[in-house]
Amino acid sequence: MKRIPMALAILMAAASLDAQQPAAPAPANDPVRALVSRLDLEKYKATIKGLTAFGDRRQGTTRNRQAVDWIEAQLKSYGCANVERIVYEYKTPPPRTGGAPQQRPADPNAIPTAQGGGRPRGVRARTGVNNDPMKQPDEKLRALNTEPATDGERQEVYCTKVGATHPDEMYIIGAHMDGHGWGEAANDNGSGTALVMELARVFSSPDVVTDRSIRFALWNNEETGLNGARAYVEQRAALQGKEDPPGSGRYPEPRWLGMIQHDMMMFDHGMPRADGTLSPEQRPEADVNIEFQLTSKFVAGAKELAWALHAANETYATDYPANVGPHMTNTDSTAFMDVVPSVSLRENERGIHTGNGWNPHWHQPTDVFSTFSDKDFRLGLNAAQTTLAGVAQLTNARLK
Ligand SMILES: [Zn+2]
Repeated sequence: MKRIPMALAILMAAASLDAQQPAAPAPANDPVRALVSRLDLEKYKATIKGLTAFGDRRQGTTRNRQAVDWIEAQLKSYGCANVERIVYEYKTPPPRTGGAPQQRPADPNAIPTAQGGGRPRGVRARTGVNNDPMKQPDEKLRALNTEPATDGERQEVYCTKVGATHPDEMYIIGAHMDGHGWGEAANDNGSGTALVMELARVFSSPDVVTDRSIRFALWNNEETGLNGARAYVEQRAALQGKEDPPGSGRYPEPRWLGMIQHDMMMFDHGMPRADGTLSPEQRPEADVNIEFQLTSKFVAGAKELAWALHAANETYATDYPANVGPHMTNTDSTAFMDVVPSVSLRENERGIHTGNGWNPHWHQPTDVFSTFSDKDFRLGLNAAQTTLAGVAQLTNARLK
């Protein structure tokens, strides 16, 4: 290797600092930058903290219903118009019968694939859902999480920023508010829920105008199989773009332009070590993973949406980059992906990272607020900056 003279090394270091400037500098008085600056770490953390007051917010419990009420009250306090609820029934499916799943013959040449289609590599650590209350050492939290789920009616809440010139078209920004595992569901998915609520707050400010509408949705029953998001699609897909009443200029269900889901936003500490443990620190290479699904019907539009968010991250996110991948899976956007271009934002790729044990707190009693550092919270904030900026650009957001 060639030795680099000291003076040149200093010049190169200065040049690499310059290279950290945004790829496409925003114009002066840029409204998108002004909107992004209305997000802040303390507000984001405070909203997550508020959600953790309801424990794991497991679907079908009083603590889950109280969390829905609390979210609704916050959305109203932000001035988000038309806070509404989806009502549906949830019944636990009967346990699978028929013995052990079929064993496929082992093919030594087969390339292993993760859920969503990616190829898992490297060290894999154990994953699963904790169902043991005694693994929660905090007695108060254990008591809060004790009521079991009961089948029956479910509700989930959403509100809408109505577009000034195209109120008949909208982007849907979502996150699931339910959790499980005997913790506080702080990361899965207080982190995504708070992100969506923070965006609702910023876009609902009376001095913000957008051409197109934006809906902020907090799904229930994700952990049981995306049931809340599926109920929304079933009940509302057919209502898209219909003016009601005719001539009113009102569109109860604007036509869907894209769906952007947020699920587990904060923890990117890298691959497990050979002994299965994880680094206690956010890795410096941490990123926001934007995923679309290659097999989805609207893959072309989903790709475009993913890269629009990626570009928004390059210009507006303060600390962490974004990466785009083709294996979106196991979250509410799956329920939308064959109806509208859909993407998810996460701390890791769901199939090959999360599924390989990159987050030891996933569905565990340690998924509590106090587990996470400001470096973790800041990754979630950067995802919020990414979606806020991307959607602001897509809807032509501006200040009055
Ligand atoms: Zn989740």
